[in-house]
Order: sequence, then C-alpha cells, then structure tokens
Amino acid sequence: MTLVDTPAKDASAATPAASPAAVTGGPSLPQERRLVTAIPGPRSQELMARKAAAVASGVGTTIPVAIVAGGGGVLVDADGNSLIDLGSGIAVTGVGNANPRVVEAVTRQLNSFTHTCFTVAPYDSYIDVAEKLNELTPGDHAKRTALFNSGAEAVENAVKVARAYTKKQAVVAFDHAYHGRTNLTMGLTAKNIPYKNGFGPFAPEVYRVPLSYPYRDGGLSGAEAAARAILQIEKQIGAENLAAMIIEPIQGEGGFIVPAAGFLPALVEWCRANDVVFIADEVQSGFGRTGAWFASDLEGIVPDVITTAKGIAGGLPLSAVTGRAEIMDAAGAGGLGGTYAGNPLACVAALASIESYEQDGLIERAREIGAVLIGRLNALRTADARIGDVRGRGAMVAIELVDPATGAPDAALTGRVAAYAHAQGVLVLTCGTYGNVIRFLPPLTITDDLLIEGLQVVAEGLKKA
Ligand SMILES: *Cc1c(COP(=O)(O)O)cnc(C)c1O
Repeated sequence: MTLVDTPAKDASAATPAASPAAVTGGPSLPQERRLVTAIPGPRSQELMARKAAAVASGVGTTIPVAIVAGGGGVLVDADGNSLIDLGSGIAVTGVGNANPRVVEAVTRQLNSFTHTCFTVAPYDSYIDVAEKLNELTPGDHAKRTALFNSGAEAVENAVKVARAYTKKQAVVAFDHAYHGRTNLTMGLTAKNIPYKNGFGPFAPEVYRVPLSYPYRDGGLSGAEAAARAILQIEKQIGAENLAAMIIEPIQGEGGFIVPAAGFLPALVEWCRANDVVFIADEVQSGFGRTGAWFASDLEGIVPDVITTAKGIAGGLPLSAVTGRAEIMDAAGAGGLGGTYAGNPLACVAALASIESYEQDGLIERAREIGAVLIGRLNALRTADARIGDVRGRGAMVAIELVDPATGAPDAALTGRVAAYAHAQGVLVLTCGTYGNVIRFLPPLTITDDLLIEGLQVVAEGLKKA
C-alpha cells in the first residue's frame, strides 16, 4: 500500500481528482490501500459536520468518511484515501461497486424508462427477475415471486402471505435474530439497543425461541437445539396458532451464527408436519455470499418461502419474496405490491448481477475467499485466545472476541480493533448481540492481496488493542 504517515496539509494536492464527482469507480480503480490524510481527512470532516447538522442522529455511520468512488475491493474517499472494503455496504455489493454489467444495464434502462409502477403497467425485467429467482432458489416445486424495495419489506410480505395461506396469526423468530427496522420486523428482531429501544409498542403475535449457537450453548447438537425450540413453541404458542417460523440460515447482525448441523432440517421437518410456513430470511446470507446461491443450499433445507435483498442488485434497492406457488398465491390481488416495488432500474441491475455471479465465477470466488478468511483467522486464533470463535461460510465469516479467562464477550476490545482498522484504511463491520463480533463481508471481486492486507491490519489491531 501507499501510506503517507503525515496527513497531507493540502488534501486537494493529494487527491487525484479536483472534483470528487469526477472520480470514476468500478473494477479499474487502483486496487490498493492508500492513505494520503488521516482518517477522516479534511473533506470527510467537513461532510460529517454537515451530516450532523442536517441528518437525523439516529442515522449512524460506521466510518466517518465521504465516499466518492468504489470498485473491486476498494472505496475511495473525498480526500483521495483508498480503503480496503471488507463490508460490501453490508453484503450488498457482492458483484463489486459500479460493476460494469450493472452500470451498462442500468444506463440502458435509464435512457428507456425509469418507472411505471409494476402494478399499474408491467414490464419484462420484473418478470425476468421473478423467473430467475424461482429457478435459483432451493427446491424444484412450483414457485412465485413478488418484488419489493428493502429486506424489511420482503420480510413483512413473507409474513403476510404465510398468514393469508395458513389463516393463522402467530410468528416465531429466534434469539439473536435480525429482520429489519419496520414495526413488524423490529418485533421479529431480537436486539434492543439500537434497533428497538423506545420504538414500541411492537406488533402482536410475535414469539421468540432459542437458537442453536454452537459456541455458546454448551455443545447442544442440532437435533437437541431444535427439540428445545420446538418444545417451547408447542408449550407456549401451539402449532395450531402458528402461521410461520422465520430464521436466518446463518444469522447476520446477530453475530454470523452458524447453527449446529441438523438444527435447520429438524425445524423444517416440524414446520411441514404442522402446517407452519418455514421462512428462510436470506437477505444477508443469499446471493453467492456463502459460496452457494443460498445458505439454505449448504444447510440442506428447502424453505417454503425465502426472502432476499442486499446482494441481489449490485447496490440498487430491490428485495424479493419467493415461495411455494400455493402460499404466494394466497394473498388477494392488490394485497402485495408497492409504488416502487420492483423498479425497472433495480430489476435490470438484478439481472446483470445474476449474470455476473454466474459468468464471472463469483460463487466459486466466495469459496476461495472463505478459505483465505477461515485459514488466516484460525491461525490468528491459535496464537490469540481472545479470538473465541471463527465461523461462517464462504465470504461471510466472523470472529467472536472474548475474555479468554471467562469466555465473556469483549465488546470494548472489538470496538478498539475496528477503530484501529478504520484509521488504517480498512473498513470492517462489527455485529453480534453482545457487540463482540467482527464480520468479514468483502466484495467477491476483491483480490487476495487486498484481502490478506486487510486481515493483517486487523491482526495488528488485535496486537495493539
Ligand atoms: C439487512 C437485513 C434485513 C433488513 O434489510 P433492509 O434492506 O435493511 O430492510 C432483514 N433481514 C436480514 C437477515 C438482514 O440482514
């Protein structure tokens, strides 16, 4: 990497382009970590001051820099710093920022038409996306898809169809779950601060049961953990009242928790036997992230309904609910939709992204990234007992940081390591109910060199913290 230790006095002198808007992103951006100012530099500080004055403070920021371009495995800020991106805008830019296929498709669509509202006057790209999702999601049963804008909206609609189909009302979610920030999805989400605190009352008929969390549940097998959850459902809710069970096959915000083998299949089997719709929320774990199209594929399950978003459209806002035809068709005409749902720009971006996953070898690349991550992080763990656990699949991997003596979560250490990485130009994200997990979600277009350099910075941060 290039590193100018003393922050440049005149940041604009070090900035490649005079106007930030002139910096072109995409994979041809130099794939390097380059620090020409302290993080944040003067232009970013200026922007953050304006943000504080103009934007609601509930809208937080992980790293206080103003981004002007992104591509491959880097993000470039307004001061000319080039950061290694290990977050992909929370698992969104799997195909890379300003992916050329996406740019081309969206540009073409932009010049053609930008909006009709699909429920007013339809167009083919929406249907193309629906056909693709019906084909790519697990299971070869008849499926239907409906498109929306955000992950939370997809989850809300998955619950709507499950209730319409089963004519039951209760929904069960799991410990450590994250399903969004709207009223119903807040209720489904487990963590109070920051997601729920002060925002109640929450939607009724939402229940929570224990997860399989191999690092923290005393070695329960998948079958035992499933039996524990099912017993609680039967005693406290009753299958006859339960419309749906919703679960992230690998939890995202909750800490990248991979359940013990057999946990998810046992839940699916119970749902099927009890007329309960099994919803896999793959908003974070989907779209090649785990080294398969969907995490459900790796866990050997076929969900009744699957929600997708984040990695689906290369950064354009799109989400989907895909499920068994008879479940999806249970909602009456006009019951599903939304003004912007399945916007044509987002649809063509999704089709171009799917093409990129398929034709640019990105799903195989996710597995290679996973091998680098798991190998390097396990080596770190052997040398540093504060890394309690290394887990994840493909390019969705995390470390859980603990007090080695007690195993207690160490959120303060996690915060220090992340802050160190940010100051050194490596964008990592934290997560977990206890705030003690560092997660790695690089774009699948990152080079090994950048990935390894990013991990080395995190290792340095651990050493110094
Ligand atoms: C991010 C996320 C959501 C919410 O998606 P938004 O687009 O932010 O509404 C829902 N479920 C999971 C698993 C997520 O990771």
